[in-house]
Amino acid sequence: MVTMLLPELPPAALRLAIDRDALAANWRMLDAMSGQASAGAAVKANAYGLGVAAVVPVLRDAGCAQFFVAHWSEVAAVAQHVSAGAISVLHGPLTAADAAYAKALGVKPVINSLPQAQRWREAGGGLCDLMVDTGMNRLGLPMSELGDPAIAGLEIDLLLSHLASADEDAALNTVQLARWEEARRAVAHRRASLANSAGIALGAAYHGDLTRPGLALYGGIPRAEFEGRIAQVARPAAAILQVREVAAGEGLGYNTTFHAPAPMRVGTIALGYADGYLRCWSGKGVMLSQGRRLAVLGRVSMDMTIIDLSAAPDLREGDWVEAEYEPVAAAAQSGLSQYELFTLLGARFGR
Ligand SMILES: *Cc1c(COP(=O)(O)O)cnc(C)c1O
Repeated sequence: MVTMLLPELPPAALRLAIDRDALAANWRMLDAMSGQASAGAAVKANAYGLGVAAVVPVLRDAGCAQFFVAHWSEVAAVAQHVSAGAISVLHGPLTAADAAYAKALGVKPVINSLPQAQRWREAGGGLCDLMVDTGMNRLGLPMSELGDPAIAGLEIDLLLSHLASADEDAALNTVQLARWEEARRAVAHRRASLANSAGIALGAAYHGDLTRPGLALYGGIPRAEFEGRIAQVARPAAAILQVREVAAGEGLGYNTTFHAPAPMRVGTIALGYADGYLRCWSGKGVMLSQGRRLAVLGRVSMDMTIIDLSAAPDLREGDWVEAEYEPVAAAAQSGLSQYELFTLLGARFGR
């Protein structure tokens, strides 16, 4: 490998515009909707694809004091911006190395099972969180094991559970609420937490001491109660790499699935499925330029997408367009969930 001084990287031809004011306002709204409880933040998966470096300082400055990641590999980036004690790792210590890492950094593991409780004690223990499974059957201590001595020996900050269907008015919500309350009576802890974004809208009984919104922070709308209260945060934008005039009958892109019905002016932009703009947007997506809607033509490729510039004759090579990416409408059009639309956004965006 050659070591050399690299020249400064030119700006990316692809950027994810993050509206920091909207992000802070969304956290404040969710904190207010959480009533007596404080809102924390789920910042796993690189803050749902928006970028930890852009997101975490804004949430911290807005007043957020508790952050959740899934993997141990996600801790370091968050710890650049907040104290390690404010970070919880949802997957918990799967190995002794995980537990040692948590001890060394001072982050809290979320204990999800008796073996994890044992592992944490063997690593020296200390403050941790406990996830109890109340009906989702995904990750967390079964209710039947709440009385185990290994759990009684833990020093628990947050007693957590997670709702399977908070985005619906499902009967399971009240079942999970009752089991979470039972767990709160059974296990000594400092604070209790149940609600994700959608769960915040289920009312005060679901709030406990701390809520854990993710999706709605980033502009997602999991339930009607959030409409008009949560603002769009993320806007993918790409530069036009090339402009061309195509003759009537010419085919565009891979497998030429689109043929120009008449002579038309088209642009190729630096955004493709490798960036999370999946092939489901082929012939369907829309780019925006000063209120004008520019249709995606033919197939989305790995690094590029061709768009119709008929409505924007002024646009040239190097100009920028923004993807229409309002989460509710984009999910309906693409068939992807709002969660997928965010977390797909790739590593090549300037953020
Ligand atoms: C991801 C996650 C959240 C956030 O959920 P949203 O639906 O995005 O608000 C909260 N709690 C846990 C345990 C999670 O895994």
